Amino acid sequence: MGLWKDIKNLFVGMRITSKHLGRRAITIQYPEEKWTMPERSRGIVVLLSDKETGELNCTACMLCMKACPTGAIRIVAPRDEATKKRDLKSFDLDFGLCCFCGLCEEACNFSALKMAAKYEFSTINKDDLTWDVKKLQEIGRDVDYVDTRKKKAEPKPAVKPAVTDTPVATAPAPAAQSEQKGETS
Ligand code: SF4
Ligand code: SF4
Repeated sequence: MGLWKDIKNLFVGMRITSKHLGRRAITIQYPEEKWTMPERSRGIVVLLSDKETGELNCTACMLCMKACPTGAIRIVAPRDEATKKRDLKSFDLDFGLCCFCGLCEEACNFSALKMAAKYEFSTINKDDLTWDVKKLQEIGRDVDYVDTRKKKAEPKPAVKPAVTDTPVATAPAPAAQSEQKGETS
């Protein structure tokens, strides 16, 4: 009984294999061939830079750190009492703690952080899973994003008075006016 069952299973397997013979392969020869990840896949968290200046978009508001459920983000940014702005000293992300939920990206209002469709960052050293601000920024430099920040409008250039060839008639000075009146009277 067991023998007939095994023979039947063998033919079932061969039928499935024969159905795929001649079809286009859906597997790839990794790692020689790389899979292109969907645009919105959550590969890694990266920091984004301004497309014109190349400077970090992060304002050190700390919203991503507060939104992170696993405590993977650590930001040190003391507030400058004079300017009332935070000065970003360090921004570390521990991928050993990150669960790739994407809440940090949703919390960020400054187009400064994104989950990029990148992979192959595994390591056997646990310490290498913590990335600092420089590494997070460098990995994110080629990541495309929609900049939703409201930038301050640049001041308009001063309008110069138009220069004309024809002389402009000006009203005579009050002293000259009184002289003219004396001559006529
Ligand atoms: S993806 Fe989730 S767990 Fe990872 S850093 Fe962002 S908020 Fe934290
Ligand atoms: S990445 Fe965004 S949310 Fe996080 S500190 Fe910077 S500006 Fe704030």
